[in-house]
Amino acid sequence: MSANATADLVFTNGAVYTVDAARSWAEAVAVQGGRIAAVGAHADVEDLIGAGTEVVDLRGRMLLPGFQDAHVHPVLGGLDLLQCDLHDAGSLPEYERIIREYAEGHPAATWIVGGGWSMDVFPGGTPTKDVLDRLVPDRPVFLPNRDGHSAWVNSRALEIAGITRDTPDPADGRIERDGAGEPTGTLHEGGMTLVGDHAPATTPEEMHQGLLKGQAYLHSLGITGWQDAIVAADEQTNNFDAYLRAGASGDLTARVIGALWWDRKRGLEQIDDLVALRDRGEAGRFAATSVKIMQDGVCENFTAAVLEPYLDADGHPTQNRGISFVEPELLKEAVTRLDALGFQVHFHSLAERAVREALDAVEAALTANGASDRRHHLAHIQVVHPDDIPRFRQLDAVANAQPLWAAHEGQMDELTIPFLGHPRATWQYPFASLARSGATLAMGSDWSVSSPDPLEEMHVAVNRVMPASYPYRVDNREVFIPEERIGLADAVAGFTMGTAFVNHLEDRTGSIEPGKEADLIVLDRDLFAHPVDEIAEASVQLTLVGGERVYEDPAFQ
Ligand SMILES: [Zn+2]
Repeated sequence: MSANATADLVFTNGAVYTVDAARSWAEAVAVQGGRIAAVGAHADVEDLIGAGTEVVDLRGRMLLPGFQDAHVHPVLGGLDLLQCDLHDAGSLPEYERIIREYAEGHPAATWIVGGGWSMDVFPGGTPTKDVLDRLVPDRPVFLPNRDGHSAWVNSRALEIAGITRDTPDPADGRIERDGAGEPTGTLHEGGMTLVGDHAPATTPEEMHQGLLKGQAYLHSLGITGWQDAIVAADEQTNNFDAYLRAGASGDLTARVIGALWWDRKRGLEQIDDLVALRDRGEAGRFAATSVKIMQDGVCENFTAAVLEPYLDADGHPTQNRGISFVEPELLKEAVTRLDALGFQVHFHSLAERAVREALDAVEAALTANGASDRRHHLAHIQVVHPDDIPRFRQLDAVANAQPLWAAHEGQMDELTIPFLGHPRATWQYPFASLARSGATLAMGSDWSVSSPDPLEEMHVAVNRVMPASYPYRVDNREVFIPEERIGLADAVAGFTMGTAFVNHLEDRTGSIEPGKEADLIVLDRDLFAHPVDEIAEASVQLTLVGGERVYEDPAFQ
C-alpha cells in the first residue's frame, strides 16, 4: 500500500475481537486490495478514508476473523440439502412426511437418496424397512443416518443388492437382522456399501452444485475456510474434481484444504496415488495436502475402538472392543511414510483405543523423521484415556474437536453413556483438559453429521448444554462433564486461529492483523457482552473472504 492510498472498505465503531496473540480488541479496521490495511482506534483508519471508501458503522456489532471449520463435508452437506434431507427433523412422522413428499416430488428419480436421520428416533437406534416399503414400494431407498455410519434401506434396495438372510456380514460392517436372521432394513459401516454401491453415482455436475450449495450455506454461517475431511476421486465419490473445477474457475470462494481419503481396503501401495492426486490437486483456493485415515467408527453402534470392552444393556462387559480399521502397525508405517512425503494426516479417532493408536502412529513418524511441522490432527476425540491427554502437546498433534456433541442428548444418554460405563463415560470430549495440557485445539462441525453453525458449536463448548435450536430430542439439560467446559475466547480461537493453524494458513488468516487476508465476519452482537448461554442466539450478518462479500444478511444494513 502506498502511503497516500485509501482503503476500499472501513469498519468503524465496532467490537473488533482480533484473535491476535494478545487477544486484543479494536474498534476499526481498514481493508484495501483484499487485505487488512489497518486495525485500531478510529483515528488509526481515518487517514485511509477517501472518496471511494465504503465506510460501515458497525454500531457496536462484533467483527471477527472468518470462522474456519477443521472437519467438514461441505459437498455431501450441499448434496443433502438438494436431496431427501432428514437432518432438521427429529421424529418418525416428520421423516415419513419428508420422504413421501420427496418421492412424490421426484417421480423420475430411480433411487431415493439423501439421509440425516437420528438414531434416537428409533428403538435400539435401528429403523426398519417396512416404514420405507409403505412410503416407497417401487423404488430403492438408501438413507444414511446423520453420522453417516448406518443406512436405512427398503426391501427394493436389499433386493437389488442381493441381501438376504443368507448374506454374511462384511468384515467391516454389519447387517441388522431379526430373530430369524432376516435383514430388517439397517446396514452398519461397511454393510452400507452393499447397497450404496448400486445407487447411481453422483454426476460431476451434481457434485459441483453440491459444493456451491454447501459453500453458500457455510458462508452464511460466517465460515470462510475449512478442511474437507474426505476428498476422493473415485467413481462413487468424486468431490476432488469438483474442487478443482471450482478452484480453477474462481467459484470456490472459501479457502479449502482437502484431506484425501485413505482406502482402508488397500495398503501402502496407495501412497503413490495420493501423491499423484496432491500433485494435480491445487487450484485457486484449494489444495489437497492432507490425508484422512479413518481409524475407528462411532460409539452408538459399537464400532468405535475402545481399550476395555463395551458394556451390554445390563452393564455387563461384552466381548466387543470395536474396530481398528487400519491395523496399528500398518498405521504407524503409513503415517511415517506420509509424514516423510510432506502429507499431513487427519485421523478419525473417536474412542480411546483409536486415539492411542493414532498418537502412537504420530510418535512413530516423529521418531523416524524428526519434527516435521505437518500438524497431524486427531478428529472427534470423543473418548480420550487420561494418560493420552499430555501426548497431544508432546507430539505436536492437534486436537480437532467437534464440540456440538459434548452435551446430553438422546444418542449420548441412551446409546453411549450406558455402554461406555464408568469412569470411561466421564472421559468424553476433554477439551479443557487438552487446553490445560498445552495442546492446540482446532474446531469443526463434521457437517452434514450435525449442524455446521460455529455459534451453536461454541455454545456447547462453553456451556456443555445443547442450544435451544438443536433439532433432536434433549431430555436432560444438565451440564455435561462441567469441568471440561472451555472459555468463549478459547472456543473462538478454535474456530479461527486453531483451524488456520491446521490448514497452514495462520500467517494469512485466522486473526485480524495488518497484512492478513480480509476474511472477516460481522455478528449481530458482541458475544462477550452477553451471557454465555446466549451464544447460539447470535447470528452472522456479513461474511467477507479476501475483502469480497460472499454473504450478506438483509439485517446487516
Ligand atoms: Zn467426518
